[in-house]
Amino acid sequence: MPGSGDGSPGAPGEAADSGNRPFIVAIDGPAGAGKSTAARRLAARLGFALVDTGAIYRAVALAASRAGIAFDDDRRLAILLPGLRIRFEAPPLDQAAAGQKTILGDEDVSLEIREPPMSLGASAVSARPVVRAALLDLQRRLAAAPSHPGSVLEGRDIGTVVFPDADVKVFLTASPEVRARRRYDELVAKGQTVSVEQVLADQQKRDRDDSQRAVAPLRPAPDAFLLDTSDLCADAVVDALATAVEVRLEQRGRPV
Ligand code: C5P
Repeated sequence: MPGSGDGSPGAPGEAADSGNRPFIVAIDGPAGAGKSTAARRLAARLGFALVDTGAIYRAVALAASRAGIAFDDDRRLAILLPGLRIRFEAPPLDQAAAGQKTILGDEDVSLEIREPPMSLGASAVSARPVVRAALLDLQRRLAAAPSHPGSVLEGRDIGTVVFPDADVKVFLTASPEVRARRRYDELVAKGQTVSVEQVLADQQKRDRDDSQRAVAPLRPAPDAFLLDTSDLCADAVVDALATAVEVRLEQRGRPV
């Protein structure tokens, strides 16, 4: 239902009118570049909403897999998508470090969508134009939440497709080895049994698929600020992003 704000994907719409919408920070880049941590901390520091668009594609992959729909079955994906309700929920205060929850229907799927098959599934469904078109409006509506002065969105095509008029556009990257090691540490911390080699191989496949797909391929927007995080700690990345936001807010005369 386009424009209903109920979390279901709608038809593709026009980019939100930048005059009326909240301040938008677009953070794009490949897996393991540090987007999630940076986006989460930046949103918390600024009091902005956080829209993890990768979690949305992951939730679609999970729903398709549960319904027995192949990730490239456009016809059945098109039938599935309008009925999906995907939204984010703040964690309870004592679990703030766990980050916000991803809710599919009424179910918390935050953990399940992070498992390796859903990483590959998200990459596969995200290459389908029918999926990208259906999710465009949902991403814009979640970002336009009036409860916050602004939103931080992280993904692959935020600065190029979802919000080409974003107030701040950042493209984060890091060397493939550093990115794979970060993902490996994350998965091991969650108790998953994986090898660095497997994580690197999955990552190479996703990088290739994400940057070579015909629709919304992963690439920096021409006006994005590029940041290589290979040798930076998370605090340094967040400080750099916060500075970019502050400069832009000052230019616009809108202190947060
Ligand atoms: O960021 P995350 O690893 O959770 O994203 C999962 C997958 O979803 C990515 O590998 C990518 O293929 C896809 N994705 C996308 N566009 C976005 C966000 C994620 O294609 N805006």
